[in-house]
Amino acid sequence: MLYIPMYHYASERKRGNSRETLKRHFEYYAENFNSVLPLDKLSENKPNVCITFDDGYKDFNENALPLLKEFGLKALLAVSAKLIEDDKDGIYLGWDELNSSLGYKGLEIAAHGLTHTPILEPEHAAFEAKESKRVIEEKLAVTPRCFVYPYGKFTVEAHREVKKEYDFVFRIGGAANTGWGQNMLYRFSADNTENIETLFSRYKKAGYLMRFFLNEARGV
Ligand SMILES: [Zn+2]
Repeated sequence: MLYIPMYHYASERKRGNSRETLKRHFEYYAENFNSVLPLDKLSENKPNVCITFDDGYKDFNENALPLLKEFGLKALLAVSAKLIEDDKDGIYLGWDELNSSLGYKGLEIAAHGLTHTPILEPEHAAFEAKESKRVIEEKLAVTPRCFVYPYGKFTVEAHREVKKEYDFVFRIGGAANTGWGQNMLYRFSADNTENIETLFSRYKKAGYLMRFFLNEARGV
């Protein structure tokens, strides 16, 4: 089984976890999971975890990145060019900071849309998919393989366009995954979670599996 927790801030906030809490999460992953990024071989003996952080807040570099290194974990960081470039409050990592984060080989950058808007119309989807890839290539000299829907919003028609540009597309969906080949990869929120074990209780895991089948039956 492949679990994809979704994080935002790496500090004490509503959509975040304090550094101390994150440390406990990462310690738990390091002990109990196989840490993976897309196409890494999935373990059959252990559950697999693909850690994802959205939006690229500055506290990712301050708190999450050193802990990922400490525990030898991999993570996907989804960034949106417009958030970075219109950053009036100074809360997002800049391109230079992201470039330095990429010195850690366990980190992969995902596209999170150009404008960080819901992706609903096929034409808008094609534009967002292509442009967000182009800007990341230009600024970070890497070609993203992954796309993360802003707000988890999408339509089936939009998704067809996004899949033309990316091998791996993530939404929320509150579900587990069985492998990388899925048309859509499902995540669940790990923000504001004091005790990480509550996200992996027997009851929760049964729910993720049930929602996997429900989502797959819908086609996305
Ligand atoms: Zn976002």
